[in-house]
Amino acid sequence: MAETNVTMEKIVALAKQRGFVYPGSAIYGGLANSWDFGPLGAQMRMNIKTDWWKRFVESRPDMVGLDGAILMNPRVWEASGHVAGFSDPLVEDVKTHKRYRADHLIEEATGESVDGWSLDQIAGKLKELELKSPEGNALTEPKAFNLMFETAIGKTEESKANVYLRPETAQAIFVNFKHVLDSTRKRIPFGIAQIGKAFRNEITPGNFIFRTLEFEQMEIEYFIEEEGWEAHIEKWADDMEAWAESIGIDGDRLHRLEVPEESLAHYSKRTIDFEFAFPFGTKELWGLAYRTDFDLGNHQEHSGENLRYVDPNDNTRKIVPHVVEPSMGVDRTLLAVLLSAYDEEEVNGDKRVVMRFKPHMAPYQIAVLPLSKKEELQAGARPVFEALAPHWRVDYDETQSIGKRYRRQDEIGTPYCVTVDFDSLEDKAVTIRDRDTMEQVRVPIAELERWFAEKLSI
Ligand code: ATP
Repeated sequence: MAETNVTMEKIVALAKQRGFVYPGSAIYGGLANSWDFGPLGAQMRMNIKTDWWKRFVESRPDMVGLDGAILMNPRVWEASGHVAGFSDPLVEDVKTHKRYRADHLIEEATGESVDGWSLDQIAGKLKELELKSPEGNALTEPKAFNLMFETAIGKTEESKANVYLRPETAQAIFVNFKHVLDSTRKRIPFGIAQIGKAFRNEITPGNFIFRTLEFEQMEIEYFIEEEGWEAHIEKWADDMEAWAESIGIDGDRLHRLEVPEESLAHYSKRTIDFEFAFPFGTKELWGLAYRTDFDLGNHQEHSGENLRYVDPNDNTRKIVPHVVEPSMGVDRTLLAVLLSAYDEEEVNGDKRVVMRFKPHMAPYQIAVLPLSKKEELQAGARPVFEALAPHWRVDYDETQSIGKRYRRQDEIGTPYCVTVDFDSLEDKAVTIRDRDTMEQVRVPIAELERWFAEKLSI
């Protein structure tokens, strides 16, 4: 695994320079904490989502997918508890008027989590610790700040209806539970997975793409009988960990945190946070919660619809299924993959930066490089690109010296470079350079597809 000599400065600079992540709206002076994904970042997000979907939906008979709408009837968010309770405790510096998460200030001061604490408990702790703002000024009393973004449907003031941008994808799954059950005939235990954007008006966004106002989630609601929930959550924890390893997240920097009972969200009986050692601290990467029958039960009550599941072995037995929820952020996953892959080494007195991505995560898997811009070399290299591109993600680069192009491909994590040189025109073979070992082998062009099929199959 790569070394841990990575800093956020290095990752942010490389991400911008090579086209993984750009600051949002930059030509207009930017928009704080908004980011745009460049050609390589867009591809990697796609790779993460495709791999997740393949692993957790396509490869499992007990899973199906869903793609719900971002805008939902506001009653959904009343039933889910978000209107009343999806808030963070906010304090304000009385001089600078800067806002802070009161829970984060306490956690930084004490090193202990205050997840799930009431506003009163937080207020009491702030007083007890006599906490000041990071600028050293007094703080206001904590206030609850709802994280949901509101917007309006309709053109005139009178006809406008307020709606929310969804703060999580999960609710579309609960709301469609009965539809999915009726249309697929699935029997519990089974799960519904969804990937999509979520929006939160975070008080203190930051740390690059770690905490943003707009992000993407990959969520699963796994419907089960109450009995045996412990085994299901354990199994999901193992599955999540195995996926982390398979996409190149450094296992040494990842660990499970058993959220203590007093810090559990009101709907959860057990929560495991997967924490990752980011350069700015060890923080939640993903969450896994046993949500009991809280969500379906609430939606049943608020909507008046029958959301019970009929036991196929005993038609008189009707239950509201319980739920285990693995919840993962695409953006935090990307950040953890970037940080895990970053490596530096010295080669002939020069620093070599290498992103040691797993081949199926890398933006490009192969780069085809004619040794120079000479017409005959390009004529030799194009067919190589065309033969490989239908099967793998292939870059084609004919600029700069070959040494510089190798370094560039190392920095964007391309596992293999294929160089077409003057000999290639004679011997119909190319040189393949391995990103990690830098070893080179000569392979006949006619055998390339077979060679890569072996190397790049996962
Ligand atoms: P945090 O405690 O960091 O605010 P959370 O516990 O509120 O996170 P969840 O509601 O469990 O997060 O959301 C599930 C996942 O969505 C998180 O594990 C994370 O990967 C991702 N996520 C949540 N909030 C954000 C955000 N503001 N920006 C980027 N990703 C996020």
